[in-house]
Amino acid sequence: MRKPIIGGNWKMNGTLSSARQLAADLRNALGSYHGVDIVVFPPAPFLPVVQSKLGGSGVQVGAQDVHPKASGAYTSGTSAPMVQSLGCSWTLVGHSERRAWFGDNDERVGHKLAAALAHGLNPVLCVGESRAEREGERTIHVIEQQLGSALATYDAGRLGSLVVAYEPVWAIGTGLTATPEQAQAVHAFIRGWLARRFGPAFGEAARIQYGGSVNADNAAALLACPDIDGALVGGASLDARSFAQIVYAASRTGGRTT
Ligand code: PEP
Repeated sequence: MRKPIIGGNWKMNGTLSSARQLAADLRNALGSYHGVDIVVFPPAPFLPVVQSKLGGSGVQVGAQDVHPKASGAYTSGTSAPMVQSLGCSWTLVGHSERRAWFGDNDERVGHKLAAALAHGLNPVLCVGESRAEREGERTIHVIEQQLGSALATYDAGRLGSLVVAYEPVWAIGTGLTATPEQAQAVHAFIRGWLARRFGPAFGEAARIQYGGSVNADNAAALLACPDIDGALVGGASLDARSFAQIVYAASRTGGRTT
């Protein structure tokens, strides 16, 4: 059974007090939720307070990024052991905004994925094509390249509970969403790729999220697709009520038998 998973990427938003308030609102809105894995990704400075507010609520907390190295002279970096020591269990890896603004290329994404796994964090590997790549009919090639580069050196046993997030860059923060048909086609490709690379059982069990302007209105149609196991939500995750509606839409899919 693939349990739905909804992530909330808060990006670089908020202050200590608004982060605390959002965590409290989420605890109220989602604390007794079952049947959906819920993970929020606050900015790094707010991880401790959000983790302590949500501890025991069933809502899990993760980092938006980790450094490839465990420690050392890497000013401003946040390492996987730091995140893990806070009791957080997840991290995003390779988000397109990291790729665009911070120079995270495929090789670096691979090193970050390795750091996450080595230190017991569940990675959400983000992949997705730009608008020009989609228009040039290069979507599948780009996804294949990103998956292949990040996952090249692994066997299934070492990948733990890897989640892949398909996030078309042209849909992130733009209000443009992939249609359910567009998203399903890429998700099916990703599942097939994982099955060929790591075996059919791994492919069937792997959870693949869609991300890109998901909101309370469009979530249900996307989540109804057979290979879409959840959503990675940016803007709409900053509002506890909208985020809760997306979680509710995921819960109604009931997960997928594998
Ligand atoms: C994201 O940050 O991963 C994202 C999908 O953002 P948004 O929902 O705002 O498009």
